[in-house]
Amino acid sequence: MITGIAELLKVARRGGYAVPAFNVDNLESVMGVLEACKDYPAIVQTIPRTLSYGGVGSYAAMIKSLYNGNADIAIHLDHGGSLDICKSCLVAGYTSIMIDGSALPFDDNVKLTSEAVELAHSFGADVEAELGGIGGKEESSAQIRYTDPEEARLFVKLTGVDALAIGVGSAHGIYKGEPHIDIDRIRDIASVTDVPLVLHGASGLSNEVLTDCIRAGIAKINFATELRQAFTRGLKEGLKLMPDAYDPKQYLPYAVEQVKQVALSKIKVCAGGAFNP
Ligand SMILES: [Zn+2]
Repeated sequence: MITGIAELLKVARRGGYAVPAFNVDNLESVMGVLEACKDYPAIVQTIPRTLSYGGVGSYAAMIKSLYNGNADIAIHLDHGGSLDICKSCLVAGYTSIMIDGSALPFDDNVKLTSEAVELAHSFGADVEAELGGIGGKEESSAQIRYTDPEEARLFVKLTGVDALAIGVGSAHGIYKGEPHIDIDRIRDIASVTDVPLVLHGASGLSNEVLTDCIRAGIAKINFATELRQAFTRGLKEGLKLMPDAYDPKQYLPYAVEQVKQVALSKIKVCAGGAFNP
C-alpha cells in the first residue's frame, strides 16, 4: 500500500537496512522507479522545482495510478521550503513531507518544523526535517554543516519529527573529488535518538560507504542525480538506436529501463545483501 515514511523507516532502522528514496522528474522516471521497487519498500519523492515544472498534483496522481507493487511505498515531498508547499502536497495526497529549515537558526528551525509536524500529522502524514547542512545546490541547503549529536537529540524531542536528515559530509549533485562521510558522527547521533536518520546526496558514494552509513544508523537514503543521469543516458540511447522515430513511446522505454536498473542497484545496497532483485 501507499503509506507514510514513519512506519517504513522505523521497521528499517530496527531491521538494520535502509529504504531508498528516489527523486522522480516525469512519467518515465516514475515508471522506472515503480518497476524497480515492486518487492522492496521505497520512497518516491519530488523537490519543489519538479512540482513547479510538472504541477503539484501530477506526480502523486501518476504514482497512485501506476503503483501495483507488493511492497509499501511512500509519496514524499523532498526539501519543502515553506508550510504552503507542504500543505499543497498534503492536499494532493502526499503521505509525507520534508520541511527544510536547515538554513535557519536552531530555534527558528524548531519553530518551523514543529508547525510542519502539526500540519502534516493533521493529514495523517509524516515529517522529515533537517538539522545541519548538506552540500551542493538542491533547493535551499548549500553548505556542509556537521550536525551536533546533542542538538539532534534536543531537536527531535522539541519537534516530534518522524525522520531527521543530518549533515555528515554528503553533498547534492556530482561530487568533485573524494567525499568524506563522517560515519562516527552518524553512530553518535543514532546513539542519542531513536528517530530514523536520513542521508541526502548519496549519488556518487560507493556501495561500501553506503553500507557503513546504514550500519551506523541511516534508514533513508536519497538518490536523485544518478537517476537523472540514468534517464538522460537511456533517452540518448533510444534516440541513437532509432534516429527516425517520432513517437516518444518508441524511444522513452530505454530511459525507463535505465532508471529501473539504477534503482534496482540502489535497492540492493539498501537491503544489505539480503535481497536479490
Ligand atoms: Zn537533499
